[in-house]
Amino acid sequence: GALPPWQRVDELVLEAYAWARQDASGAVADYIPALAQADPDAFGLCVVEVDGGTHTAGDADAGFSIQSISKAFVYALVCDELGHAAVRERIGVNNTGLAFNSVVAVELNGGHPMNPMVNAGALATTALVPGGAPDEQWAYVQDGLSRFAGRPLALDDEVYASESATNQRNQAIARLLESYGRIEVDPLPVVDVYTRQCSLVVTARDVAVMGATLADGGVNPLTGERVVSAEVCRDTLAVLASTGLYERSGEWLFEIGLPGKSGVAGGIVTVAPGKAGIGAFAPRLDPAGNSVRAQRATGYLSRVLGLNVFASS
Ligand code: GLN
Repeated sequence: GALPPWQRVDELVLEAYAWARQDASGAVADYIPALAQADPDAFGLCVVEVDGGTHTAGDADAGFSIQSISKAFVYALVCDELGHAAVRERIGVNNTGLAFNSVVAVELNGGHPMNPMVNAGALATTALVPGGAPDEQWAYVQDGLSRFAGRPLALDDEVYASESATNQRNQAIARLLESYGRIEVDPLPVVDVYTRQCSLVVTARDVAVMGATLADGGVNPLTGERVVSAEVCRDTLAVLASTGLYERSGEWLFEIGLPGKSGVAGGIVTVAPGKAGIGAFAPRLDPAGNSVRAQRATGYLSRVLGLNVFASS
């Protein structure tokens, strides 16, 4: 069924926010030095319906770096260019069961990146972005993610500099993929484009609009622009459902029953197909790198709004 009336959804978003706020567990990411400076108490929540109806609570307009949430949208853009079969073969769709920045996962799988939502697969995906030259690839990514958000997204220079100085592990993963022929261009510029894509500043509201675009078959409900095809949305959401929260993807799907994608700055995008996008942001993370409050608020909304895709009524 459809969502409840606008006013009721508005109340439930405030309730979800108040309920999730009670949980102050978890820790802010610090392996990227700039992220350690985040306000641990910041918390924003936003729901954007496919008709454009918008609901917010808390710091819904506070900026944070998109981080791994970008993986979902760059993947969708690349799928739109290359098609279902090519991306499935090259990037894969299976969970690794290991941490997002695992090197061992690449080795265990004979050099296959496994899925686009871990760093190896995201690097392999960014390597496929059209353009050839890194600056053109970056322009394509920035423009594409901005079309998902419905406004121009800008780089956080401090996060970009901080992560560039400390991303040796991603450089190693990219080199390893190159050695297996899974990245066929110069790998270090790929890491740079990837690092920039992770450093784009978004708000919970932006993330909800981006999610609502995937919920709406690829049409941004605020701008009316088609960003990707409906088939690409379907494929992207299947990948998010199985791999969006890393090694906790199973627990997430069991509790929440929706495709979602987290980032280490504390954001989570969640998609209720045909209904709405949910954007949540709170910097304290669980051990897998997923925001504690964002998971709680989204779980609450999934239950009270009846969004679980596996529920028969
Ligand atoms: N840019 C971060 C990294 O590559 C993104 C990780 C994440 O959000 N989980 O380590």
